Amino acid sequence: MTYLHVRFPRLKESLPRLPLGDGPTPVRPLPGLSEGAAQVWLKDDGAYGNGGWGGNKVRKLEWLLPDVRHSGRKTILSVGGLGTNWGLATALYAREHGLRTVLALVDQPVDDYVRAQLGRLRESGAKLYFTRTKGRTVAAVPWLFARHFSGGRPPYVLGAGGSSPVGALGYVEAALEIAAQVEDGLLPEPSHIVTAVGSGGTTAGLLLGLRLAGLRTRVVGVVVNDTLRLDGVTLPRLARRTAKLLERRGAGPLRFESGEEDLTVVRDRLGKGYGHPTPEGERAREHAAGREGLVLEPVYTAKAVAALRAMNEEGRFGDGPILFLQTNGPR
Ligand SMILES: *Cc1c(COP(=O)(O)O)cnc(C)c1O
Repeated sequence: MTYLHVRFPRLKESLPRLPLGDGPTPVRPLPGLSEGAAQVWLKDDGAYGNGGWGGNKVRKLEWLLPDVRHSGRKTILSVGGLGTNWGLATALYAREHGLRTVLALVDQPVDDYVRAQLGRLRESGAKLYFTRTKGRTVAAVPWLFARHFSGGRPPYVLGAGGSSPVGALGYVEAALEIAAQVEDGLLPEPSHIVTAVGSGGTTAGLLLGLRLAGLRTRVVGVVVNDTLRLDGVTLPRLARRTAKLLERRGAGPLRFESGEEDLTVVRDRLGKGYGHPTPEGERAREHAAGREGLVLEPVYTAKAVAALRAMNEEGRFGDGPILFLQTNGPR
């Protein structure tokens, strides 16, 4: 079932979804994760994805791959870090659906996790270009674009993380799924959802989807990427562009606005930058694994949980409950 299509039947044709995973993803309490006053719950989107790789990128691809197909393009051109979860998910699911992937990769700190990820990228069938810096990557894109025409058509270009309005639909849909779980009594209505912000599509999609669902839940986005502008201006803007996309494709007027109170952007958990582990993040990882059997990785989810723990101890979530979105899904 696709909640967006039930809600807006005209989108079935104009914005099709290609199911790549099985929802709803499980929710459960995490009593050991944090010492603060607010109860913490987990929504495990790491479990999402049937194609050998899971996590939040799969939900974006469910909307992006039909858009690529509809455009008649045969190749996706995108960018990411050396350990890009986005690039890997794209390569694996695109290949399954007859599309090629070309990736330009920017350097990031290399640890065992990134090394393993690079190995998976090499096996994914994607064509990899090691463009190293952001500047060289931006400069290389026109050349890669020209070089990877196929069947007379140019590649479909996607920014890092797949955070276009079409990609963000994955988390509009996920927010409607959360609302259904609240409705079914599986989850108390969260006061806040905490998630890592890498390219913004997850946060922006949630922001829009929660309002469409009529929940009062606020989004707390923990920024882990300093190579893109991700803040209280750009994230709501992406949510509004996503609302406009739905309106243009037949959802009717949505009157979406997001107020300042709907989103908290946390920018002080980055440490030295994208991909650099932080001491609090590493402590959060150990704690989550030991107390809850919850596997976090250093780049995104460890920093998000470190922020959640610190803010909860400071009483920033009131009585909660808080929903932590597990976005990481290696298999
Ligand atoms: C990409 C990613 C995120 C961030 O999601 P965005 O939509 O890019 O902001 C969070 N966690 C993990 C594990 C990711 O791979």
